[in-house]
Amino acid sequence: MTPVALIVLDLGASAAQDLAVVDPATTVLPATDLAATRGDGIFETVVTVAGVPQASEAHLDRFARSARMLDLPEPDRALWRRAVTTAAAHLREHPRGAVKYVMSRGDEAGTGVPTGWALAFVPAARAEIPAPLDVVTLDRGYRSDVAQTSPWLLQGAKTLSYAVNMAAMREARRRDAQDVIFLSIDGFVLEGPNSTVIARFGDRFVTPPVELGILPGTTQHDAFAALHRDGRQTQVRPLTAAELTEASALWLCSSTRGAAPIAHLDGRTVRVDADATAIMNHALDDRKE
Ligand code: PLP
Repeated sequence: MTPVALIVLDLGASAAQDLAVVDPATTVLPATDLAATRGDGIFETVVTVAGVPQASEAHLDRFARSARMLDLPEPDRALWRRAVTTAAAHLREHPRGAVKYVMSRGDEAGTGVPTGWALAFVPAARAEIPAPLDVVTLDRGYRSDVAQTSPWLLQGAKTLSYAVNMAAMREARRRDAQDVIFLSIDGFVLEGPNSTVIARFGDRFVTPPVELGILPGTTQHDAFAALHRDGRQTQVRPLTAAELTEASALWLCSSTRGAAPIAHLDGRTVRVDADATAIMNHALDDRKE
């Protein structure tokens, strides 16, 4: 990734909350920030097309949802929207870019003032239609009702603690795969370490519900809207691990990657549905906001 612009937010309690555009090489974190010392904070990554952020409001909704789950102060929506659009504007020259915005709990000294920034960057180039993936299923170690029984485990919040997700990706590589579908210990399909699962059964496209302790995927949401417009049926319902083996096609969806078809799951060949893949990705690319 190539950093292009950095926006630093002033989230102090004063009414003069504001933002500043600084050199992208600027250091924003003291060694005592809880983002660095405990991964205690939240983030979003939004894709930009010629400097316009896609699904911006859906990302802001999820940012606010994560803040609530972590007992962080409610993000000032107008300020964060301005930070994202200001960062995105620096990517006007780039057909595709991204803005990652972060809010941590602030300094370990307990000032109570969150730290916030938004980084505009150019991600590694990707194909217009994402390449088919080899994926493995991995046990996440939680039951499917973890969000209800144990909300302190923050399943379904987009926190800065992604070390586990990254470890799962390394495990996939050890198994000669590129990505992961997490399963609950009671046998339900959850999500990828940085993606949402879509499965096709006949002419119906299914994704698991957020009540299972997974993130509400902005890409899956817009992919379903595109399928719906194309006359396909979509459904949000729990999906068992056994059902995954019966799906006629599978995808992993994320903002930076689009809808990537799965070619192999646990070594078994999965049919790549080029038609539905194209419908979803063309619509995702065409999103204006
Ligand atoms: N689930 C997890 C755990 C993620 O980290 C992500 C995105 O990074 C997603 C799902 C997909 O979300 P989106 O489509 O909004 O990028």
